[in-house]
Amino acid sequence: GLRTNAAAAAEVSTEAGKASREDVRNIAIIAHVDHGKTTLVDAMLAQSKVFRDNQKVEERIMDSNDIERERGITILSKNTAVSYKGKKINIIDTPGHADFGGEVERVLNMVDGVLLLVDSVEGPMPQTRFVLKKALELNKKVVLVVNKVDRDGARPEYVLDKTFDLFVDLGATDEQCDFPVIFASGMNGIAGPEPDELAENLEPMFEMIVNDVPPPFVNTDTDLQMLITNLDYDEHKGRIALGRVNAGKVTKQMSIKIATPDKDPRSGKIGELFIYENFIRTGVDEVMAGDICALSGLPDIGIGETIIFGAAEPLPTIEVEEPTVKVAF
Ligand code: GDP
Repeated sequence: GLRTNAAAAAEVSTEAGKASREDVRNIAIIAHVDHGKTTLVDAMLAQSKVFRDNQKVEERIMDSNDIERERGITILSKNTAVSYKGKKINIIDTPGHADFGGEVERVLNMVDGVLLLVDSVEGPMPQTRFVLKKALELNKKVVLVVNKVDRDGARPEYVLDKTFDLFVDLGATDEQCDFPVIFASGMNGIAGPEPDELAENLEPMFEMIVNDVPPPFVNTDTDLQMLITNLDYDEHKGRIALGRVNAGKVTKQMSIKIATPDKDPRSGKIGELFIYENFIRTGVDEVMAGDICALSGLPDIGIGETIIFGAAEPLPTIEVEEPTVKVAF
């Protein structure tokens, strides 16, 4: 017979000891070039309480010299985090086009929701179709941000309709087509539920992210499992591996194994561990499942490999799919 949603939810929340990380949200931003992603993220950073809430961070930024800061920014150019009402929102950039290396899947595998940012004059652009399609296939929660509503010729309602048509076109389910919408002017740092009902800040958008994007649903009590989804390089620290901790916790200087489902695991030792706060890389002692972090000390680790400890199993290597449409970059 039919089960109520509440009964189904209760069942899920006890599944294998998993729990929601209510203090974390992981989102990706999908935006066509020039639709205002950089400006919006800057406004989010400016309004985030990180600096005021965390004096230590402020001191660290003041202390670090420009080169160090520059390095942090370079490494984390595609990742940042803002804090809102005690919750940490990790923001991951997505390529704004079909890619040939599986980067879209890698990014989307780290998050539970996406902000689909659309210019209120131009409307949704074909280049973001591929990324949105992937997000829908992976059943990530989509929050539509109709941006630049202050622009001359802005037609936010029309753009909303066009975006809805795109969802239908991409085969979205009824539930996915019922996406939450927020109207914003990233340049002015304001957002609201209607184009003519904008608040004095981005709070309505932060609220929507926190309320509509589900928190990571993870098991923090089991052995470490972390899929590496991106790599970076630091002149001093060498290879930096990035990913989301899928289960358990990771600590700095931890002895681990690197594994894939089809190869024998090899041993390694993590060096330093970092999280993101604004665009600054911050060293930490440990990171729990559900959060996104970067680590050094594993010079030969590759994308798609899993860092495991104890009885944990490697995660499936991410499939790299060739897109059917070739786009000019
Ligand atoms: P990105 O390519 O998506 O990162 O876009 P940017 O943030 O660099 O913005 C592209 C252009 O749009 C820049 O000239 C911005 O000043 C402008 N822009 C960004 N947000 C807004 C907005 O809310 N309103 C208006 N009118 N212009 C904006």
